Amino acid sequence: MTVSPQDWLRRLQSAFAGAAQLLAPRTAACLLCGKPQTGSRSADSSSPAKLTPQLRQSLCGACLSAIPWLTRIACTRCGRGIPCEDCIRSPHGSFVCNRSAVHYNQTMRAMLALYKYRGNEQLAPLLGDMLLPAFEALTAEIVQRTNAPNSRDSKLKIRMADHWDAVTYVPVSAEREADRGFNQAEQLAGRVAQRYHLPLKQLLVRSRHSEKQSFKTRAERFRDTRSLFDINAEEFQLLLAHAVNDSGKTQASRRGIRILLIDDIYTTGSTAEACSQVLLHHAERPLEVYLLTWARS
Ligand SMILES: [Zn+2]
Ligand SMILES: [Zn+2]
Repeated sequence: MTVSPQDWLRRLQSAFAGAAQLLAPRTAACLLCGKPQTGSRSADSSSPAKLTPQLRQSLCGACLSAIPWLTRIACTRCGRGIPCEDCIRSPHGSFVCNRSAVHYNQTMRAMLALYKYRGNEQLAPLLGDMLLPAFEALTAEIVQRTNAPNSRDSKLKIRMADHWDAVTYVPVSAEREADRGFNQAEQLAGRVAQRYHLPLKQLLVRSRHSEKQSFKTRAERFRDTRSLFDINAEEFQLLLAHAVNDSGKTQASRRGIRILLIDDIYTTGSTAEACSQVLLHHAERPLEVYLLTWARS
């Protein structure tokens, strides 16, 4: 069989075109604005140093730099970027403190709506990854505050699993979960737990369905939220038992049980307070609850 020079040229050209396509940077649409974008973004100076490759690859440069990261905290209790009257008025609560990944502005509202209400579950790992820098910063803060051994060396890698006994989340009502198909707080918590090999536990259940919080005053919210949650006794007992069995071996025996409670948004702190109260009420041993939320409004 003979091949004409023209045929060879054609075959060669098509082979080169195929190879070029393979080597070209993968063009993917930005998960937020849908614009095509290529390769990995570099973070601008306001971004936390550690953004996962997945986060960089899923968003275009414009969307990535529009994220209002909460890297400077003015209120050490609720993690707000500006000084906070609420926390000055009532500085003591059931949880130790809240830290949030971002400030809840219009852009973040739109991002959350895309995920929560329009069921774009592709965004779950992305939002989860956004929590990671805030989580690492919170853990580093705790290690420094409690003056754990080796904490003087700030460059030393902190093993997250040494400092947490469980990751849990704010439960949504069965009706709401059925409507939406998922619980956003559970998905966020799952991502953090998976990333750092921490035990994910459902420690709380919803005791009744609430109306929308958005139109209520602060006092109304606190009153209405109080009886919303209950302990998931079986999981909670397992957690307590595990910490007791391990005493002498784990850090939990020395510092008490430390729980990371995850939710999507921190507004007045009424949900955080109600959930923490339930956990503390059922604990037979020292227990600390820390909040990690995706956005601080
Ligand atoms: Zn974009
Ligand atoms: Zn505050």
